Amino acid sequence: MGKKYEQFYRRSIEDRDGFWTEQAALIDWHKPFDQVLEYENPPFARWFVGGETNLCHNAIDRHLGERGDQKAMVYISTETGTEQAYTYAELHKEVMRCAAVLRGLGVGKGDRVLIYMPMIPEAIFAMLACARLGAIHSVVFGGFAPASLALRIDDAGPKVMVTADAGMRAGRVIPYKHLVDEAMSVAKTPPEKVVIVNRGLDKDMPLTKGRDLDYARLAAEHEGEDVPVTWLESSEPSYILYTSGTTGKPKGVQRDTGGYAVAMAASMKNIYCGNAGETMFTTSDIGWVVGHSYIVYAPLICGLTTIVYEGVPVRPDPGIWWKIVQDYQVGVMFSSPTGVRVLKKQDPEYMTKYDLSSLKHVFLAGEPLDEPTHSWLTEALGKPVIDHYWQTETGWPILTSAPGVEETPVKFGSPSFPAYGYDLKLLREADASEADADEKGVVAIIPPLPPGCMTTVWGDDERFVTTYFSTFTTKLVYSTFDWGIRDKDGYYFILGRTDDVINVAGHRLGTREIEEAVQAHPNVAEVAVVGVNDQLKGQMPLAFAVVKDSAQISSEETKVAQEKEVMAKVDAQLGAIARPRRVYFVSALPKTRSGKLLRRSIQALAEGRDPGDLTTLEDPAALEQIQEAVKT
Ligand code: AMP
Repeated sequence: MGKKYEQFYRRSIEDRDGFWTEQAALIDWHKPFDQVLEYENPPFARWFVGGETNLCHNAIDRHLGERGDQKAMVYISTETGTEQAYTYAELHKEVMRCAAVLRGLGVGKGDRVLIYMPMIPEAIFAMLACARLGAIHSVVFGGFAPASLALRIDDAGPKVMVTADAGMRAGRVIPYKHLVDEAMSVAKTPPEKVVIVNRGLDKDMPLTKGRDLDYARLAAEHEGEDVPVTWLESSEPSYILYTSGTTGKPKGVQRDTGGYAVAMAASMKNIYCGNAGETMFTTSDIGWVVGHSYIVYAPLICGLTTIVYEGVPVRPDPGIWWKIVQDYQVGVMFSSPTGVRVLKKQDPEYMTKYDLSSLKHVFLAGEPLDEPTHSWLTEALGKPVIDHYWQTETGWPILTSAPGVEETPVKFGSPSFPAYGYDLKLLREADASEADADEKGVVAIIPPLPPGCMTTVWGDDERFVTTYFSTFTTKLVYSTFDWGIRDKDGYYFILGRTDDVINVAGHRLGTREIEEAVQAHPNVAEVAVVGVNDQLKGQMPLAFAVVKDSAQISSEETKVAQEKEVMAKVDAQLGAIARPRRVYFVSALPKTRSGKLLRRSIQALAEGRDPGDLTTLEDPAALEQIQEAVKT
């Protein structure tokens, strides 16, 4: 840690009130706050208590005077060949219309709106329109299957859903509305109205009379209506975003309003070095936390131009990201290790073809960044590449370097140091004592969590405490469920999860969720899903299934057919992102004598490592089967 950053960091922990009061001045407040932090009911923290603000006002309205004619958003779709820019004034108009549409459907403060959309401008209009109305948006990633969507509908209880006829990926049309209908048919509390942005991509889109409404028609009806901003008390919720954990049921990460706005503005200044008038290009999707924070809220709150990109990194050719950087003078870029690994396999000529002189830094997050990829990108671009580590729960980085405060040397493979505001510790699993340098520990945060982090689990305060704050019985600490290690220079390294969560191309998946989907196949009696190393995606799921009737898989052909059927079940329940790379059929799973699945040993064997201590194993033959299976 550099001296300047160390001071900055220390102050954020030792003088919380002073530090965050300063950061809070980066946003507009309708009413000033009375108290910086209320922490009377640990671990529940309320930031900027009594203050009133609004995310949409901060993202749009407050810029209208000074930068109404500046581009707020540039939409680029290499799928449909569209490129369209919106100034702040135009974005204001669009969001106002969308807010009027939602208001017309009865959406008001505290109501939930589910957004299931491809990367199109209307998705961002809808998010900001909700914020304007004080409604709570819940964006569900478009890659999730109907059953997953239905789970989220039932948990959030949305009044309205906003969707589109279809998305596009790598030239293929992905029909969203069909999936929505399937989800609506199984959801227990489906929304009354579904607003559809018709892109004209799916001519066979089914419509339900009275329920399904055309966005363009509604927007025309509400043209010119004024929708004033609904001011919210700082700790009132802004959005819910679901994420996977160890149980089969995803958790609704709930975020506040004022704390989040401040965290976004502060991170843009201190970490991303993004200034008003510059351009930020984040290659994520609005369905993920990175999209919420760094495609939508942070860049707009800070008066930047944000790039909204629908497309893959290799179409029309692998130079597309860098062409965008050149064409729009991108200053800050945010991407993922998997995206970079995809480019690493392409012709290196694409890395030098474009003028990248506007680019200051590239930030990567979402999954471990391996050293070779980190050094390759740094060399190929000749720019600092900053690995930073965070979670859906925190909404912004936990470990990072903060070049806006001090430019510190990068160590390949390390997300550098704790971000300001996080009282971060590496704790020994056995007794919650602090690990020494070079000793592995659980990455933990001493509460209160800083502004911008989740405030609770939607509708379930108890689950917030039992999930995140109960790892250690002797200390109330937030567990990230990641192992970490700190070297002698104070640089941190993330070593992998402590739980059964896996990370596929930066997407977090619970192995339990995948197991439940596999078990939906009528011939599967039992299954274990583990994550194994994958050169491109970081990790991939592998399934080991015990069948009820082995006669059904007696030949190689029937086995292959059944493997495909199981994969189709996962596609249907969760989406293709969760599909196991292989499904191996075995006659028994390795368990302890008390019946606990030996997942770590299965994973180790599948990765060709030593399975560890097997003294409690009930049936050694089960382990041998795993070993044999992965050879095929
Ligand atoms: P998500 O909430 O889906 O973003 O997943 C968060 C998880 O992704 C973390 O708990 C880590 O396991 C992993 N992760 C995110 N960023 C990094 C990083 N820079 N290095 C290593 N692991 C990361």
